[in-house]
Amino acid sequence: MELKEYWSDSDHSRDFKLIRIGVVAVRFRWLVALLIIGIAGWIAVDWWVLDPAQFKLLWKARLITGVMLTPLLPLSYLCKLDRRWMVMSLYTLLGILLLFNFVSLWSFRDGVPIPVGYLAFPYFLLALLAALPLPIRFGLRVAVVVILAVLGTDYWLDDRTLDNGELIDRIWLLLCFSLTMIWVQAGQLRMLLDLYRESTRDPLTRLMNRRLFLRQLEAVRHDSGAGQPYTLILLDLDKFKRLNDDHGHLMGDEVLVSVATTIMDIFGQQAIAARYGGEEFMVLLPETRLDQGVRQAETLRLAVESQPVESPLDESEVMVTLSAGVVEGHHDSATSEVLRLADEALYRAKSRGRNCVVAHP
Ligand code: GH3
Ligand code: MG
Ligand code: MG
Repeated sequence: MELKEYWSDSDHSRDFKLIRIGVVAVRFRWLVALLIIGIAGWIAVDWWVLDPAQFKLLWKARLITGVMLTPLLPLSYLCKLDRRWMVMSLYTLLGILLLFNFVSLWSFRDGVPIPVGYLAFPYFLLALLAALPLPIRFGLRVAVVVILAVLGTDYWLDDRTLDNGELIDRIWLLLCFSLTMIWVQAGQLRMLLDLYRESTRDPLTRLMNRRLFLRQLEAVRHDSGAGQPYTLILLDLDKFKRLNDDHGHLMGDEVLVSVATTIMDIFGQQAIAARYGGEEFMVLLPETRLDQGVRQAETLRLAVESQPVESPLDESEVMVTLSAGVVEGHHDSATSEVLRLADEALYRAKSRGRNCVVAHP
């Protein structure tokens, strides 16, 4: 766990960014729906408790706010696709609500006592925004916008001074609510990150699992431009069943972890590498031609072949080999077809006697 992951989303993977934005978009939609119902529906309460002159000013402000919020509902569907839409929608929501806050407080000038519900609106807003899994940096920005808007409103409505006695109390309370909001937001982000890792990583080797790998494959295919191929390597350990039978499953597991480590050593920590099945691994090399991919697969094969794996129970060591099928994919090739061809190449490597790399075609 790194603090950087909570501070901003710039280090999040593209896949996680999309998932987080999806969650934010759904909660944002609920939030807007609740606010529309709450703000417009409160007209009935105001009619009941406020005196008629005051009510006449406020019901319009409430209705207009409700109407202004409504386009954010369809906009939240666009948010799912792009982070910029999300940021823009959130600031628009903030802007509309802070404007409502200003107008409603302004309507109570001339010494009319302000009901506590109206005074508490900015705090209520901060509490609601805690429902969104936002990184700390963004949460701070939101808090700064709310605090400045509240102080600005105070300044404007209080004869352009900030020296009313309650100011320190308000700032203090706003800071407490802001910190709580940021803390809850970061907690939700953490929960989302944890769940994401658990659902996309193989628990034994910590490589990507099949689910995430297939999503990455689709993304790489989508991104690869015309004439810019990618290469897929499918690896299968040789006679692994025998290794399990002879040395036990614990040793088998140790071998799987060791091979995964060798894959990461050779292809780098940011490699798109997965445990695809029991003793099958996949490596995806974006912007790589077939001959380059075959060379890299050969490097990996040699590394695994020459790397003894120590037993977790005693001093004994085992040697393991792997077979690989390599295939080149293009923007217009279906991923299912690329996977099938890789499997075919691997099958040929096995029938050639194992411990070798075979490319398709
Ligand atoms: P081949 O050279 O043809 O690939 O033979 P193989 O024995 O490797 O192939 P097979 O697919 O028959 O065997 C795969 C074995 O992998 C069977 C299963 O017991 C073992 N296996 C799958 N997952 C795990 C795991 O998580 N841990 C261990 N220890 N073994 C596993
Ligand atoms: Mg197998
Ligand atoms: Mg095997």
